[in-house]
Amino acid sequence: MAEAAVRLRGLSKHFGRIHAVSDVDLDIADGEFFSMLGPSGSGKTTVLRLIAGFETPTAGTVELAGRDVTRLAPFERDVHTVFQDYALFPHMTVEQNVAYALKILKVPKAERARRAGEALDQVRLGGFGGRRPAKLSGGQRQRVALARALVGRPRVLLLDEPLGALDLKLREQMQSELKQIQRDVGITFVFVTHDQQEALTMSDRIAVFQHGRIEQVGTPAEIYERPTTGFVASFVGISNLLTAEAAKRIVGTSGTYTIRPEKIQVRGDGAVPDDPAHITVKGTVVDVVYLGDVTRLLVDLDAGGRLTALQQNLRTSSADVAALRGTRTVLTWHRQHTVRVPDSA
Ligand code: ATP
Repeated sequence: MAEAAVRLRGLSKHFGRIHAVSDVDLDIADGEFFSMLGPSGSGKTTVLRLIAGFETPTAGTVELAGRDVTRLAPFERDVHTVFQDYALFPHMTVEQNVAYALKILKVPKAERARRAGEALDQVRLGGFGGRRPAKLSGGQRQRVALARALVGRPRVLLLDEPLGALDLKLREQMQSELKQIQRDVGITFVFVTHDQQEALTMSDRIAVFQHGRIEQVGTPAEIYERPTTGFVASFVGISNLLTAEAAKRIVGTSGTYTIRPEKIQVRGDGAVPDDPAHITVKGTVVDVVYLGDVTRLLVDLDAGGRLTALQQNLRTSSADVAALRGTRTVLTWHRQHTVRVPDSA
């Protein structure tokens, strides 16, 4: 098997009594778009900074392409970090910003210009080299920051919430662009985000963090369809957990279970399908949210517990949807979509 681009073993970082990162083992493959996802304070930025060399671990090792870099300074590591706030030099042109690191390395002028031009082409900003950062949009500035990172041809690019400062529309556009750029250049991207949708759309694989530990590593589909802990089930997607007595009554065995809302069919006509492959429950709609393409229903189940279900809007108007509040309903889903997670959730 090819050497992992990034290999972490037993990695921990304590700040006094705060255990920011605890015993993390992780292999990131060469050329992978890998995301570290988790709520604020879960330790993902600290892991990124440990890979970059901005922090020294309390315990454990960091390897890059098979080389132990744990004690090396940031500039001795073949990585580059892109931060959320870009930190472009305002008095320099776009090209000068991109070529700056090469200048420090005393790369000859012609070569600098050629490589800066190449990096700007890679982020689709060819022709923008003469502008000042102030004359660019937020998304363009972000791409300049990316070009500046790519120009040094690092093996690994570390990105700390790079799209966090952009508004939603631009952010979504940059998500697909960033993924496309990563495919084109073939560099390993390690991407930190607290936004589950962003992680799901962009990543080859995701590590979900909580309290300084990795809860689960997997492809977006594995993380979404087969969460292995209650935390992952509720952090990635809408939380839909059946626990205790309600679980026993509905699923047949006690435990903690999760069902994705879009897997649940809402039978407004109240008909109960007679099919052992499906689980069917009755309940009362306690809240309705009209979302345009779909409607989100919150249903209190007669057997106990509460589930969120999504219903596609086929004929309904928003007024029809609002009228569902307080009505009786039947929910049904295929048994295979009931995913068991550990009870500690
Ligand atoms: P965010 O998305 O808010 O950046 P995060 O998941 O990246 O969160 P970290 O920034 O890695 O989390 O922080 C993990 C924990 O370590 C937090 O409790 C944080 O307060 C703490 N921490 C991080 N850096 C330091 C530091 N330099 N000194 C003391 N505590 C720190």
